[in-house]
Amino acid sequence: MNEVQRPEVEIAKSKTLRVVEIFGPTIQGEGAYIGRPTVFVRFGGCDYRCLWCDTMHAVGKQYAHEWAKMTAVEILAKVDELTNGAPILITISGGNPAIQQLEEFLTLGRAKGHTFSMETQGSVPKNWFGLLDQLTLSPKPPSSGEDTDWAKLDACIAAAEGVQTSLKVVIFDRADFAYARDVAVRYPDLPLFLSIGNDDSDPDAPVDKEALHAKMRELIDWAVDDKWYDVTILPQLHVLLWGNQLGV
Ligand code: SF4
Repeated sequence: MNEVQRPEVEIAKSKTLRVVEIFGPTIQGEGAYIGRPTVFVRFGGCDYRCLWCDTMHAVGKQYAHEWAKMTAVEILAKVDELTNGAPILITISGGNPAIQQLEEFLTLGRAKGHTFSMETQGSVPKNWFGLLDQLTLSPKPPSSGEDTDWAKLDACIAAAEGVQTSLKVVIFDRADFAYARDVAVRYPDLPLFLSIGNDDSDPDAPVDKEALHAKMRELIDWAVDDKWYDVTILPQLHVLLWGNQLGV
């Protein structure tokens, strides 16, 4: 296989990053790498305020005092501690991790043999996307209360040229499903994953698994009735296994 050409990026050394939590190894619960062992690095701050956001502790400025300021070296040292130094898939999440400057973190991590996957809503394109191994773009559907800037999403896809890129849309209702259909038409060459919305933002509340299963069956029915056969519908595996607990 030909090696992917990585972009030249300027590294702003030793800048501190806003880190909400680093945990694992556990499994990736959704998307292209579902089931893959990984360490999660969750960064703080987001340019969106989705109505059903389940990670407000990584979004709202009122939580910023809880976020650690860590350099790329410090974050990678913590990952090393968790994996006993073994290289692993590092999943970058948030918040919106794209608002951070992650080129130093990615460059140093790749040199240690780690691979990187990231999820972002696709509102902030960065040239360092080309240093990722996998990028999930998750534009937010109408139920989020946010509008999609398609030009920005296009720019994110362009910035990730050569990176394995896929789309993910969370579905709460029929309007979200129609939105996902539009996304599929706009980006016919990118794999698209659908997942069921889980609006229980209280990490201590038990998850109503039967209700999630019923919504999942309903979503499958919608896709099949629509003859939408090139979509992938997945549960949020981590929610089924651990509920809404943080750091699992
Ligand atoms: S984009 Fe993600 S992290 Fe940001 S508010 Fe929406 S759901 Fe929360």
